[in-house]
Amino acid sequence: MWKEIYGWGKYPRVKAQVYEPETIDELVNIVKNEPELLARGMGKSYGDAGLFDKVISLKYFDKIHQVSDGVIEVEAGCSLLKVLETIVPNKKFLKVTPGICGISIGGAIASDVHGKNHFNSGSFYNMVSEIKVIDPEGHLLILDKEKDAVIFGSFFGSMGLKGVVVSAKIQLTELKGLMLKEVKIPVESIDEFIDVFEEHLCCNFCVGWLNLAGKEAQLLVKAANWISESDRDRVFIFNKRRYALFPFEFPVRIPKWAFNLFNKRYYAKALQKQEHIVKMENYFYPLDTITNWNNVYGRKGLLQYHFNVGLHVAKEALDKAVKMVLSGDATCTMAVIKRFGKRNDHTPYSFPDEGYNLAFDFVNDRAAMDLIARLDDLVEEYRGSIYKTKDAVSRLGQPVRVEKFQSVQNKRYLNGK
Ligand SMILES: Cc1cc2nc3c(=O)[nH]c(=O)nc-3n(C[C@H](O)[C@H](O)[C@H](O)COP(=O)(O)OP(=O)(O)OC[C@H]3O[C@@H](n4cnc5c(N)ncnc54)[C@H](O)[C@@H]3O)c2cc1C
Repeated sequence: MWKEIYGWGKYPRVKAQVYEPETIDELVNIVKNEPELLARGMGKSYGDAGLFDKVISLKYFDKIHQVSDGVIEVEAGCSLLKVLETIVPNKKFLKVTPGICGISIGGAIASDVHGKNHFNSGSFYNMVSEIKVIDPEGHLLILDKEKDAVIFGSFFGSMGLKGVVVSAKIQLTELKGLMLKEVKIPVESIDEFIDVFEEHLCCNFCVGWLNLAGKEAQLLVKAANWISESDRDRVFIFNKRRYALFPFEFPVRIPKWAFNLFNKRYYAKALQKQEHIVKMENYFYPLDTITNWNNVYGRKGLLQYHFNVGLHVAKEALDKAVKMVLSGDATCTMAVIKRFGKRNDHTPYSFPDEGYNLAFDFVNDRAAMDLIARLDDLVEEYRGSIYKTKDAVSRLGQPVRVEKFQSVQNKRYLNGK
């Protein structure tokens, strides 16, 4: 089937042949016979990570099998949402979850996704004990985290270029409650931001929020902990409410001041109520509440730029990046800072590495593209890296793009194999 496909940022868009195998034999045959191919999950990577002119969707591979009390085996096309709906009633949860549950298990592994607790819990890799994959020659392999440590780890963060993930065994954690208590702390500068953030590393979760749509930055450190006392008699269900507020792409461009106004209101409300109790679904997946919020950016979509730098340079590099955004013409609608802990030993392609990471959402225009080119210089200067699953235009994302578009089958995947 031919179809126009794109990521969450809606840029770029590609006309692609989409394969949708229903059985493992069909899946293996397609991989064997197609010299160029990329696996695709739910298209929630922002940029071009899941784009190619021939893609294979695992939408029919969406089953969940209970292996033991705390372990499930999940097919790669299954969404995190379905996993959560299945495990939460059993008082189980995911130790690591990104800020969106509409992604696939295959996508979570290929990007080695992280949450608001990387500094104490690591990335998706930390919860997976075994993966089933198809290599470029069409061999179905079962890879164990201990026995096949190197090749197993190389799938995490490889952006689909290592092969097709078919399923994964996931180690679940006990769900501590249905509510969290969040504290929002306003800070004046990046310097203070990082000091305050470091003081909150004892919390279960911590994340930074920035408004950079005005002339001056507004910054909040948001730290949260599970609270469980009041949940003893409650029924545990995962009930993510979703509202379709933006069914169509906006025909007109929203001005920068409007995003600033929206952010300022959020900031003012945060100052009014610095401590609050929040439902687990809303804490972890706030952006999932409004379906297709990317339609706000119209047909041209949005660009996200997400970079990470080491701890010792974080204050300087983040401060410079924020000032570049504030002084430029690009419209930054949203910005988030998180703290990564140490890199896992066997995940060379994974994005998380000890330090601070900052993600900007930009309205897609010339000013944003120019700014991204300058941010690339900054990231290079501080020996940082970018998150390739969010990228569409950065030159630091180029190696992946070049690999993807090479025409020889063995070069499709990092390292050949
Ligand atoms: C609102 C929003 C919030 C987000 N928050 C976070 C966050 O907090 N933390 C974080 O880490 N990420 C975050 N992301 C990014 C998202 O988690 C990743 O991009 C994820 O990989 C998307 O999964 P997908 O199923 O949509 O994959 P796609 O977008 O379809 O593909 C992403 C990559 O995975 C590969 N892939 C997909 N399936 C397979 C498979 N079966 N085998 C091999 N490779 C495969 C593709 O080739 C591609 O390279 C967020 C994205 C959005 C839109």
